[in-house]
Amino acid sequence: QSLAAMDADLVDCRRCPRLVAWREQVARDKRAAFRDETYWGRPVPGFGPTDAGLLIVGLAPAAHGANRTGRMFTGDRSGDVLYAALHAVGLANQPTAVSTDDGLALRGTRITSPVHCAPPANKPSPTERDTCRSWLDEELRLLAPTLRAVVVLGGFGWKALLPVLGDAGWQVPRPAPRFGHGAHVELAGRRPLHLFGCYHVSQQNTFTGRLTPPMIEAVLADAARAAGL
Ligand code: SF4
Repeated sequence: QSLAAMDADLVDCRRCPRLVAWREQVARDKRAAFRDETYWGRPVPGFGPTDAGLLIVGLAPAAHGANRTGRMFTGDRSGDVLYAALHAVGLANQPTAVSTDDGLALRGTRITSPVHCAPPANKPSPTERDTCRSWLDEELRLLAPTLRAVVVLGGFGWKALLPVLGDAGWQVPRPAPRFGHGAHVELAGRRPLHLFGCYHVSQQNTFTGRLTPPMIEAVLADAARAAGL
């Protein structure tokens, strides 16, 4: 099947009872600033072209960000930082992301996450990560013909993605490469894949200065080059 067909199935997924309850409760209760909006309140599919050369892998949708707007990293501070950086390196046509009809488009780049529903406290359980894995398996399988580079935002995504890459046909070294900001590993396969680590664009990292815009832009620029973008 196509990636678009997979996404159409994904948005109806209800496999994780705790996350279904949470995403829907947040969508009912809302944050005061968004009380007039209709929250998405469902699984958030990947965003970007279906023949992307570069994939960005986050953690999970934010309760009042992507769980509200229905698009990855859209409508919250983490997304503000990520899309500004993507625009700075020429991978996005605009630096801001507020809603699905804001005109944002990515060049050769897709954004996804190993868990597609907003979790309480931004912390999915290992069981929820494993339950959602079949979606990531399928997404990687469908992207494999064009994929050249992956940027993983944070250790959770790194750990979730490595076995998926192995099953998709790339050779993951043993012991497994360790996550770190600036980590760069080239995986052999039918076509080599460049894997990059970047601290997550969470407010915890960006407000404290642990992750700065130039740091994110440097990783994205390296990954874009590796992907031939
Ligand atoms: Fe389905 Fe993934 Fe959401 Fe669980 S986290 S309900 S597997 S989409």
